[in-house]
Amino acid sequence: MFGGKIKGNTAKKMRVSLQAECQNCFGLCCTALNIVASSDFAMNKAAGTPCLHLQADYSCHIHSSLREKGFKGCTVFDCLGAGQMVSQTTFKGQDWRKHPQIAENMFRVFPIMEQLYEMMAYLAEALSYEVSSSLAEKLHNQFEQLQHLTRQDADTLLAIDIMTYRMPINALLLETSEHIRHHLISKVSDAKTKRKYNYRGVDWVGKNFKGKDLTATDLRGAYLIAANLQNADLRGVDFIGVDLRDADLSGANLSTSMFLTQMQINSAKGNHKTILPAHLKRPSHWND
Ligand code: SF4
Repeated sequence: MFGGKIKGNTAKKMRVSLQAECQNCFGLCCTALNIVASSDFAMNKAAGTPCLHLQADYSCHIHSSLREKGFKGCTVFDCLGAGQMVSQTTFKGQDWRKHPQIAENMFRVFPIMEQLYEMMAYLAEALSYEVSSSLAEKLHNQFEQLQHLTRQDADTLLAIDIMTYRMPINALLLETSEHIRHHLISKVSDAKTKRKYNYRGVDWVGKNFKGKDLTATDLRGAYLIAANLQNADLRGVDFIGVDLRDADLSGANLSTSMFLTQMQINSAKGNHKTILPAHLKRPSHWND
């Protein structure tokens, strides 16, 4: 069943299922989370308190001008579908405004569901690569285990110790990344294989990599805030946990970048020449 790459359609279906449907959510990202005032969010907001701009129908009063009004972070956030899962499945479509007795638990479940969905998205991507049957089977089993958890009741979800899932999943994602990147590196010339490929956790805030070849580099957990990555070759780069806020990706080639998320792309700058992986959308705020 798991011979090499899991059937393309299955992996694609898994990814497609991880999409936010705000119309089926009770404004959980605008209510449940604790937000500290910064350049991304113009005011402090305590966890469990609805944002002042959240309307009675759970739409945002300033939706069309979030960036201009200092709420850039709201255009970046992506729950991947955790919001509608908590609203419609865990709490069976009960609105926390009409049923205030469920509000506290609903708001506590949301960040847990969000983390489960984040891990599922990474696993779905890993399953889209050509990896060994045994690795594909382990990835698939983890995905199914998480999917099963997402369907549990609120008490079960609240009792989850997320780290017990994160650690083995991280090891599998790392194995996937190394396998794919080594394959890419083995195809380049000897001169290029001598360059360093591991820059995990590096601080490259504001650095200039314009036009640089960073293919197949492991950048896990790196800080690339406001870095200049214009026209850089970023194919095969592992982007797990990379902080790309305000990094300039104009003209960069990210077509086969690994574990890059919509939130990372939303937080960066880019233009119509930026080549994105097929599963990611070009943010509407990118100036072309
Ligand atoms: S500003 Fe709008 S999108 Fe942002 S948290 Fe408030 S209601 Fe939600």
